[in-house]
Amino acid sequence: MDLSLTESEAAFRDEVRIWLKENHPGPVPEGDDAAEFEFRRAWQKEMHEAGWTGVSWPEEFGGRGASLIEQAIFNEELAYGSVPPPANVLGLVMGGPVVIAHGTTEQKERFLEPILSGEEIWCQGFSEPESGSDLASIKSRAVKSNGGWKITGQKVWTTYAHEAKYCMFLARTDPDAPKHRGITYFILEMDQPGVEVRPLRQITGEAEFNEIFLEEAQVPDENVIGEVGGGWQVAITTLMFERAGLGAVAVVGLRRTLEDLIALVREKGLESDPLIRQRIAEFQIGIEAMRLGALRTLTATMKTGIPGPEGSLGKWQWGKYNQAMTEMASEVAGPAGVTVGTDASYRFLRSRANSIEGGTTEVLQNIIAERVLGLPKLR
Ligand SMILES: Cc1cc2nc3c(=O)[nH]c(=O)nc-3n(C[C@H](O)[C@H](O)[C@H](O)COP(=O)(O)OP(=O)(O)OC[C@H]3O[C@@H](n4cnc5c(N)ncnc54)[C@H](O)[C@@H]3O)c2cc1C
Repeated sequence: MDLSLTESEAAFRDEVRIWLKENHPGPVPEGDDAAEFEFRRAWQKEMHEAGWTGVSWPEEFGGRGASLIEQAIFNEELAYGSVPPPANVLGLVMGGPVVIAHGTTEQKERFLEPILSGEEIWCQGFSEPESGSDLASIKSRAVKSNGGWKITGQKVWTTYAHEAKYCMFLARTDPDAPKHRGITYFILEMDQPGVEVRPLRQITGEAEFNEIFLEEAQVPDENVIGEVGGGWQVAITTLMFERAGLGAVAVVGLRRTLEDLIALVREKGLESDPLIRQRIAEFQIGIEAMRLGALRTLTATMKTGIPGPEGSLGKWQWGKYNQAMTEMASEVAGPAGVTVGTDASYRFLRSRANSIEGGTTEVLQNIIAERVLGLPKLR
């Protein structure tokens, strides 16, 4: 297998690299979550105007029409260039691709362009206080009302709900149907009287995610994605895009973390320590195996257009290596590793969520066992 870039892919990489070098927005402002978000929104607008959002989306939907390999090259260059992520990450990685895969023509015309420009931010309202891994047990209910639906219930851990205009929202529309069949997928408008968003502060001190309380929140019929009662399949597509999206940028992110770790080890004069050398070698080998696995996943996705269950492997490994490396960095850093406000302690604390967000490691392992390896089902 030839894993090097073709001539046109190398030319594409150079074009991205030059554009990013000439247009890098500088560092994200620190210490003020709202200012940081607006900075990233302005940056996304700039990228969009230059045609660099939705790189692999079809041109008819406002994308660049590039291949998935080119999209991966683009993501790598963003990570290598330490470029801030766009603001509408959930819209770009999940919302837009789901509307393209399952939405009506009207939904594509209405929702895709503002996702790309960052004008309308999206969030993902799946998890509930008693439904995380067992997502099909959600209790939020939607009942039919004139020309639409009224939704009552609660969501939790909703990233960017405080910034979002729309939410990918799962609610039960048929309480008597088997649990996977009574769910419908809505595009919920957040700015309305029936929706209350309350921030949740994380261990890092940031409030990236929220609780959402809904009391007869309204959604018109035209904002249902897929069939009424057919939301489970749309939800699975969303999760596959989420895990593939995380996996896509994971390898470069991990390499950068490893480079930072090696620099720290040198700074502390520990580069000859055999135990430290061995752990670094293990990270190096693991990340390279992950890179090759990611290429396999990409090849599979190019055949079907929608990522499959094998994307769960990259997400699991990303969490595993990121947590192990940030843990080692906090040990090597000494007092700075356990002092609030340092880079080492921030990274360590933030990485704790890696084995939960986007699907827990145990659940991803079940998916790989059952759906990739074909082992017998747990239950
Ligand atoms: C930083 C962050 C951001 C998030 N953002 C969002 C968001 O934007 N939108 C959203 O909807 N959700 C979001 N989540 C929620 C996330 O998807 C859930 O936390 C996750 O799916 C796990 O659900 P839970 O917390 O209810 O844990 P549970 O499902 O209750 O799991 C508890 C424990 O039991 C284990 N477990 C559960 N089922 C099994 C099983 N079948 N086999 C083996 N072990 C099992 C789990 O692995 C875990 O260790 C976010 C979470 C984090 C940490």
